[in-house]
Amino acid sequence: RLSKRLEMIAKEVPAGSRLADIGSDHALLPSFLAERGTIVSGVAGEVNQGPFEAAFKQVRASGLQAIIEVRKGDGLEVISAEEVDVITIAGMGGTLIASILEAGKEKLAGVQRLVLQPNVGESGVRRWLIDNGWQLIRELILEEDDKIYEILVAVPKTSTELTNEQLYMPMELAEGIVADQELLLQMGPFLTQEASPVWVKKWRHELDKLEKICSRMAQSELEASRLKEAEFRQEMKRIEEVL
Ligand code: SAM
Repeated sequence: RLSKRLEMIAKEVPAGSRLADIGSDHALLPSFLAERGTIVSGVAGEVNQGPFEAAFKQVRASGLQAIIEVRKGDGLEVISAEEVDVITIAGMGGTLIASILEAGKEKLAGVQRLVLQPNVGESGVRRWLIDNGWQLIRELILEEDDKIYEILVAVPKTSTELTNEQLYMPMELAEGIVADQELLLQMGPFLTQEASPVWVKKWRHELDKLEKICSRMAQSELEASRLKEAEFRQEMKRIEEVL
């Protein structure tokens, strides 16, 4: 059985897609999608030997070799341009996801959808998307095993699909809710609008963490610490205003 997190990511992959799952580990996601007949082809990319072998074994054991190819390499170097329609990158930090996309930019020509699940550093991924001609069309949030995960779905700004999906609130509209662009990148335009209980929980937790840091800083003799505390208090206030 797939985790709830991977299941939600799987739902964002349209039927008939040619998929590349980068950092596939055991190739669970492409295997699930191939077994269900959702994808017509899949590439499971892995940079590390252990997970690469695990992916290879998984695909062979499920008899999915005709659909899924396991390839070893760094990020998008395992695919060629125009080879895939959808790329999933899940379970890594946002900085790594953004750097994989940045390094493999030329491979994104022809890609119609990115489904990204950063474990941390979501704002860096949103920033990369905006700066590189991608439109966020949906954001999901879930809690599993005491962890909260966000899933970001984006299509090229030029996508014909976008006309229908523009029903979903674009970044520009969200700015009316949160005037602060940086904060919006952190909290997510769709998630902010939706304000689901899990999202509120995530940000309450962030506030608690900031509060702890602040109370430690408040005890410091150092001028720099107190300046930093004031800065954090300011940030907490901005978050609270959104919640
Ligand atoms: N995507 C799966 C998931 O969400 O359950 C596996 C996540 S696992 C925590 C992250 C995987 O990414 C590891 O197997 C790691 O080897 C791989 N990885 C890290 N950096 C990578 C890169 N630059 N290119 C390809 N794979 C990478």
